[in-house]
Amino acid sequence: MDSAEYERKIAHRFAAFDQDGNDYIDRADFNAAAARLLTEFGTKARCDKGQALYTGAEAFWQGMAGIADVDGDQRVTREEFVGGAVKRLRDNPGRFAEIARPFLRAAIAVAGSTETDGSTVATVAAVERALRVLGAEEDVASTAAGSLDTDGDGTIAEADVVAAVAAYFTVIEPDA
Ligand code: CA
Ligand code: CA
Repeated sequence: MDSAEYERKIAHRFAAFDQDGNDYIDRADFNAAAARLLTEFGTKARCDKGQALYTGAEAFWQGMAGIADVDGDQRVTREEFVGGAVKRLRDNPGRFAEIARPFLRAAIAVAGSTETDGSTVATVAAVERALRVLGAEEDVASTAAGSLDTDGDGTIAEADVVAAVAAYFTVIEPDA
C-alpha cells in the first residue's frame, strides 16, 4: 500500500470519529454521535436506552483518550490518532473492542432491540440508517450493513458489529 492510500484510509477513520469536523476528536464528538443516533431513532436521552448510549459514548471517549491523547489536552489530533489509536491498537485489537463495546451495544439497542441475554440486535436496514446518520456515505453504509449480516437473515448481532468496527479501526490493509 502506498503512503497516499494509507493516508486516505486513515483520513476516513479519523473523520468517522470527528463527528463535528473540527479536525480533532474529543468528548463532544462522542456526545454528538450519541445525540444523532437518538434523534434518528426517536429515542429520548432521558430513558434507559438513552442513558446507556451516553454512558457508552463517555467510556468510548475515555478509552480513546487513554490510548491516543498523548499530551493529555483532552483532544486527539490526527497525529495522535495515527500514532496512538491506529498503531497501538493494531497490536491489540481486543482492546479496541473492549472500549467500543458498551457504546456499540447501546447503539444497537437504540436502533434495534435487546435480547433476553442482554446482547443487542438490529435489522440490516436499521444499522444502515445508523451508519448514515454517523456520516457514512450511502453506498458505504449499505455495503457495510449488508456485509455484517453474515447468515443473511436480515439482522445483525452486537458481536458482529463489535468485531467489524474493531477490525475497521485497527487493521489498515490495501484494497482487495
Ligand atoms: Ca471533533
Ligand atoms: Ca492531545
